[in-house]
Amino acid sequence: MSRTPSADPITNWRNIVLYGRNVTTYKIALAQTIADAVAAGQTRLTRADLAASFLMQYRDRLATGMPQGVLADKPAVMETIAKDLAAGTISEERAHLLASREAFDDVIPRFHTVDREQVPVPFYVIEGKDIVLTDAAADVWESRYAPALSQDIHARWDTLEAGFRASHSARALRLSNDTHHLQLVGAGISANVTSIAPILAGYQRNTCIHCGDPLADGIVVPMAPGITHLWGIALAHSACAENAAPSRAADDRLITRNHDIERGSTPLRAYLVDAVGPALGDGGSTIHRLLDHARRIAEDRGRWAS
Ligand SMILES: [Zn+2]
Repeated sequence: MSRTPSADPITNWRNIVLYGRNVTTYKIALAQTIADAVAAGQTRLTRADLAASFLMQYRDRLATGMPQGVLADKPAVMETIAKDLAAGTISEERAHLLASREAFDDVIPRFHTVDREQVPVPFYVIEGKDIVLTDAAADVWESRYAPALSQDIHARWDTLEAGFRASHSARALRLSNDTHHLQLVGAGISANVTSIAPILAGYQRNTCIHCGDPLADGIVVPMAPGITHLWGIALAHSACAENAAPSRAADDRLITRNHDIERGSTPLRAYLVDAVGPALGDGGSTIHRLLDHARRIAEDRGRWAS
């Protein structure tokens, strides 16, 4: 994938947050730290400042119990520090010290890297152990796009957590595959998911996810481009799958169906809980955000490609 380099700070910022390669959630946390610093009129951030911001964010995030890194057997340093702090095995001071020493050596030099290249307009420069925000940071966070960019941060963080969680449970997933011959390939869904279709049909009460009408012979479709997990795939009329625009009603039907799967006792339940866990209990807001996010990324890609 290649994108046209842009000197526009907003475009660069979105490239970093939405398309950067992430093995932990640190880049997203650093993005939030920068946003908060601009709001507070702060331009120089010491390691202690960064540690305070990260600790605050990871304490909140850990309340969800979602993983913050791609490696199941090696949690992100911030994850361990925040957990130890919550458990009372380290003091607040110790947590700050550990975070300032151990959390930033990778993320600070790599924040501006997207597709192995540096974005042309950096949002900070490195001075010793500090970072000093550039005018581009203020251009972004004092712009009228700030609320949308703030949503990007939350949605991206949710997406990464769900992705990490799904990758951690790859073994469980393979087991499900064997049981149901569930074939999820590449960026989309394989057409050959016939064995899961009757189960989805049951949970969807034999109706199409898009139009809600009875379904004689549905196909399995992703509810937003690129989504391959059970939480975001559903049965639909093939005509609806091709033509239907995303709708709130369809998304709500998906959320209801996921609730029903969660309440059920099929192996699908474990797969669903593994992939999105706490998102199932929040009235659908995370699923709505994840779907909107996936659609926006697809739109952006379309724009860049044209
Ligand atoms: Zn339909």
